[in-house]
Amino acid sequence: MLRPIVRYGADVLHRPAAPVADVTPEIQTLIDDMIQTMYAAPGIGLAAPQVGVGLQIFVCDISVGRNRADLLTFVNPAFIERDGMQLEEEGCLSAPGFNATVARPSRAILKGLDREGQEQTVEASGLLARCFQHEMDHLDGTLFVDRLRGLQKDLILRKVRKLSRSGKW
Ligand SMILES: [Zn+2]
Repeated sequence: MLRPIVRYGADVLHRPAAPVADVTPEIQTLIDDMIQTMYAAPGIGLAAPQVGVGLQIFVCDISVGRNRADLLTFVNPAFIERDGMQLEEEGCLSAPGFNATVARPSRAILKGLDREGQEQTVEASGLLARCFQHEMDHLDGTLFVDRLRGLQKDLILRKVRKLSRSGKW
């Protein structure tokens, strides 16, 4: 089932998500809905708060469905290691129409549970490492816009407020 994606300004996006107690069939249904919603958007990652659920879950697929092995689900993820630095342009399904260059570590090792509740550890670099960090930020209540500074951030927030006022956000 497709779920509506909430946008910058929705409370659930701006507070830390809670850990998942148990990977139940209900949680697996949520995960499957998130995967479907991510592909439909289309996007390369989606965190549970983006569909209005304040739980530590995200899904990602940097191939956007072209390579089945690239589809990853993380429940209660935590970084084991992060290093290096990359500067690339980034966007977010919860802030459609906006992009900005964000500094991120270039390599990351993430551990957590998969869709079946099994422990997994995934080492990532480049785009996947960026994606992990973007989604982990969502689980902390942070959006890429919050990582920007000065004029660039003000400009985006001003446009978001304007769109909100006219009911287009
Ligand atoms: Zn996002």
